[in-house]
Amino acid sequence: MTMYLSKDDSLQGISNRNVTLTCPKCLAFASASLVSLPRFELLERYKPKEVGLVYRCDSCSNPIFLRFPVRMYGNDRIELARSFEQVEKPAEKFDFTYLSEEVERDFREALIAYAQSAYNAFASMCRRTAQTMFRELGESGKMRVFDQLTEVRDLADIDEDTFRMVEKVMFDNDTERPPNIPDIDGETAGIMLEVMKDILYECYVRRGKLQEAMTLRRQRLDDGPGTLRPLRPRSA
Ligand SMILES: [Zn+2]
Repeated sequence: MTMYLSKDDSLQGISNRNVTLTCPKCLAFASASLVSLPRFELLERYKPKEVGLVYRCDSCSNPIFLRFPVRMYGNDRIELARSFEQVEKPAEKFDFTYLSEEVERDFREALIAYAQSAYNAFASMCRRTAQTMFRELGESGKMRVFDQLTEVRDLADIDEDTFRMVEKVMFDNDTERPPNIPDIDGETAGIMLEVMKDILYECYVRRGKLQEAMTLRRQRLDDGPGTLRPLRPRSA
């Protein structure tokens, strides 16, 4: 059944006015109810290719903005596609605890760009994050990251074109041929995001957790059996 806006400014052709999605504000996977439609008269006059509808999150009541492609402008109806794009995407979760201050700053900004669907900005911040990492980890660390990237490719079965793209963003520093960061679409950015999270986890989070566990173990040995010192609070 098609979904359409009718002349009386109502949404027709669907029995359920709710959508289910991850709310960008409260991050709950919840249903959201339609609260606002664009005016038929204005759409008919300007005929945009996409229209925005506003929903309300049933969990936190915040507004959620969705964009629907227009399938057809008819005389008394404007047909919309059922698939929508979330204008504001949920923030990606990541444990920044063990990252250095500089890597955290760069990667936070990369995640903000990703959430705004600014994929080329996201790629640029991924390169910056990678460069900061390489500076901190040294040449041997850079080689380890490269090995890890190929390991992720094999484990996650990433196709060769996408792999080359991710590799170019992270490792290609040829400034003779600017712009040397390739154009990134949403799909490639999604894969790149998972790769970056995995690499940061391996290089910082895993190492930090291990070191913390070892410190705790040594403290317990120093204190003798039966005693346990509390861990020092983690920096946020
Ligand atoms: Zn919510």
